[in-house]
Amino acid sequence: MNILKRFISYYKPYRLLFYTDMLCAIIVSAIDLSFPMILSYLINKVFIQEREAILNTILVVGIALLVMYIIKYFCQYFIVSYGHIMGAKMETDMRRDLFTHLQKLSFSYYDKRNTGELMSRLVADLFDISELAHHGPENLFISILKIVGSFVILMTLNVQMTLALSIVTLVIIVFSLYKNKVMQPIFSDNRVKIAKVNSSVQDSLAGIRVVQSFANEGIEKKKFAHSNEAFLESKTGAYKVMGGFHAWNSFFEGLLYIVVVVTGGIHIANGTLRPSDLAVYILYINIFINPIDVLINFTEQFQKGYAGFKRFVEVLETHPDIKDEPGAKPLTQVKGDIEYQSVSFGYDEEESHVLNQVSLKIKAGETIALVGPSGGGKTTLCSLLPRFYEVTSGTITIDGQDIRKVTLISLRNAIGVVQQDVYLFDGSIKQNIAYGKAGATDEEIIEAAKKANIHEFITSLEEGYDTYVGERGVRLSGGQKQRLSIARVFLKNPPILILDEATSALDNESERYIQKSLEELAQNRTTIVIAHRLSTIRNADEIIVITDEGIKEKGNHQELLEIEGIYAHYYRMQFEGLEG
Ligand code: ADP
Ligand code: MG
Repeated sequence: MNILKRFISYYKPYRLLFYTDMLCAIIVSAIDLSFPMILSYLINKVFIQEREAILNTILVVGIALLVMYIIKYFCQYFIVSYGHIMGAKMETDMRRDLFTHLQKLSFSYYDKRNTGELMSRLVADLFDISELAHHGPENLFISILKIVGSFVILMTLNVQMTLALSIVTLVIIVFSLYKNKVMQPIFSDNRVKIAKVNSSVQDSLAGIRVVQSFANEGIEKKKFAHSNEAFLESKTGAYKVMGGFHAWNSFFEGLLYIVVVVTGGIHIANGTLRPSDLAVYILYINIFINPIDVLINFTEQFQKGYAGFKRFVEVLETHPDIKDEPGAKPLTQVKGDIEYQSVSFGYDEEESHVLNQVSLKIKAGETIALVGPSGGGKTTLCSLLPRFYEVTSGTITIDGQDIRKVTLISLRNAIGVVQQDVYLFDGSIKQNIAYGKAGATDEEIIEAAKKANIHEFITSLEEGYDTYVGERGVRLSGGQKQRLSIARVFLKNPPILILDEATSALDNESERYIQKSLEELAQNRTTIVIAHRLSTIRNADEIIVITDEGIKEKGNHQELLEIEGIYAHYYRMQFEGLEG
């Protein structure tokens, strides 16, 4: 019931459209229902009169019919165009709500999901919902009006025949409901298969560079053919079953006419029915039987739309794991003292913790470096600070304030992250840098680009700051992309900075270049650096060695070399090769 209420709530902004649509539907039904009556009137009352009288009446009736059909024209126009527009508007509203909500869901939600499949499912679901939203009430309404209306007329024409007719109709209804029940799982299987095809295409295209560099087009083709053929198989099965059902359906309808012709014939022979009434009767059968089909299809449409809407609501009701606590206050005037107090964290509740009782303190303005084996939890440790994930136990504070007690927006505004892989949005260089600060001026953008040592490169491009990058744009080198992302963070100007292997993907030359920008960026900010190459962190105020057993060593470069531990070992491995 809750779901239905929610569904109806999407109609609210379009009440006027909805009621007009329904009114038009009533008018169309009334016009359709009246035609056989008019015909009956003509045959039984008018056509038996004199020539003159017939001609006079027929003229009036013709004009009346013309007016009726003109009215029907406008109603039909409204139903088809504005009815659909209303559906599209509702679909747009739902998609907006969904998108807004998806933006808020936490990293952990997306960790567990295939975005391609999610997308495909949501698109299909929204389409079904929109179809139901528009056709649903109209189909339900018109059909019931027509069925009841024509049934009453059929009864007045002949009770016995109509009762016989009702029995066959019942058979048709039961049969069709059975058909829907059988078809339902088949249709949902179709859905699953097409979602698989879509996600397979998306995955393969997103990784096209990897595919081609491994010359694995053949393997991809096979993988794709697998899901594509599974789709065909599923559809073929569906259509075979559907064919059988449709054939039976038309047979039953034929049966209906046989019953009417035979019982009607007997009545005529007995003189209890006029031949003209039999003709009118058959016209009404059409009006009676078509909406039954529509109603039965409606149950299917309803099931599909309802299931889609349920899934839609399910997503909307997935609360983000991480959100503002009641009474959260914005973090202002950040100095940048950071403290982790006995922090433990695991990605899954069942699995063992990635971080166990980690404690560390970073003074405002200092730079600390995290080093250690891959998989030791360095990135994880950093992800906890902007609350991409929530600590399992322990506390993290900034300037002494628990990060769970401040608003997410203010927290994330205070932290800048530069990662190894840079994501550039589809758009110009300018837009991509401006992503760092809403409403940045051109001067600010250029200033940031200069600080990131990318301004000269940008101006050397033919279209300068308006050059397209991202999905459709020019390909930039790893170093150039990285400098764009650094410009973004310069523009954002956060008091706290996380550099997660920001230069690891680059060659030595670009690294040296970017190192300079990063050092500038780190000035006067509390900075956490994760670096692969130890040369880049020698000057850090503190170096922390973190392995999957937790923090193993702590100290500055000199101190760590002296204790001859893990750091000293790493350091020698990297430098003996170069210096020796
Ligand atoms: P590092 O940055 O030191 O290489 P990470 O913090 O990335 O290490 O990873 C620490 C551990 O957490 C690894 O065992 C890794 O497999 C696991 N891990 C990292 N990210 C996720 C995730 N999104 N979901 C589940 N496990 C993860
Ligand atoms: Mg990492």
